[in-house]
Amino acid sequence: MPRFRMILDTMPAYKPGKSVVSPEGRSYKLSSNESPYDPLPSVVEAIARAAAGVNRYPDPASVRLTEALAARHGVPVEHVALGGGSVAVAQQLLEAVGEPGTDVVYAWRSFEAYPTLAALSGATSIRVPLKDETHDLDAMAEAVTANTRLIFVCNPNNPTGTVNRTAELRRFLDRVPENVLVVLDEAYREYVRDADVPDGLTFYRDRPNVAVMRTFSKAYGLAGLRVGYLIGHTPVSSAVRKTLLPFAVNHLAQAAALASLEAEEELLDRVETVVKERTRVAEGLIAQGWTVPPTEANFVWLRLGERTMEFADHCALWGVAVRPFAGEGARVSIGDPEANDAFLEAAEAFRS
Ligand SMILES: *Cc1c(COP(=O)(O)O)cnc(C)c1O
Repeated sequence: MPRFRMILDTMPAYKPGKSVVSPEGRSYKLSSNESPYDPLPSVVEAIARAAAGVNRYPDPASVRLTEALAARHGVPVEHVALGGGSVAVAQQLLEAVGEPGTDVVYAWRSFEAYPTLAALSGATSIRVPLKDETHDLDAMAEAVTANTRLIFVCNPNNPTGTVNRTAELRRFLDRVPENVLVVLDEAYREYVRDADVPDGLTFYRDRPNVAVMRTFSKAYGLAGLRVGYLIGHTPVSSAVRKTLLPFAVNHLAQAAALASLEAEEELLDRVETVVKERTRVAEGLIAQGWTVPPTEANFVWLRLGERTMEFADHCALWGVAVRPFAGEGARVSIGDPEANDAFLEAAEAFRS
């Protein structure tokens, strides 16, 4: 019997996601916070053009994409580091900072990838419970010890959609020692409409221990191609570049991300539509009597407690796949209007 690291015993085995189809054959995937839109024709064209070159290895440094991102955000090229999705960037970070005897602090519940990646790196997870469905930044600052290497702040938070605002974040960052890296995971930044939720880049500029993670998977609609990035000062970006698996950002992903930056206006128009649908869905749920934490992301959170799995099974009968966290609640992505209507019908029927 081959031997494995003990930490693997604590990790769930891979379970293929089951597709959900109603008895009438309807199927809506609201479980992964993806863009409900097909890729733009200009992006599909860029991918098709790049496909003709896949006999060659990709540019390992993703030079053109890195330069385009630096220009887009007004940051030095050296401060941009890519990965095969921002999950991969998080893994690269943890590989760079994590080892036995070190701590990684994050809110819980938050992004599911943090515990697994922290464990694989050898670091210990310190989970700080949410307060009112939001990061409890005071408690997180208090959780920092001499062993703390990294803190994830997921803003807006997945799966609750809640945010932390400028003043409290500044207060928090002021309390964190300079030798602790704070990573602002802004996977849903493009969906934020609350003007008091800061763009993390405003904090990174004068704080060498703050970095921002972004992704092409959500608002830019490239979840299937895997490309995300970090913006941070050179010690941080350089660590993420060193831990990048060679060629991990593939040729099609680089081409598609570049084309998406060129088509950004069109893509952000779509985000605006999703934001309007978010308001409609949240208000619809509230009118039905649900408690819905204010969300700034492309999903809503329903704290269903013991009824979570029952709710997910119920939604499946309506053809709606949601993301349940057993015993806690369900996260439901905002889809196109038809999918959202199906979800609202399912939610209403659950209450009656
Ligand atoms: C979806 C998501 C990501 C993005 O993951 P990719 O690997 O870029 O697809 C990162 N962080 C959070 C919190 C997310 O919800």
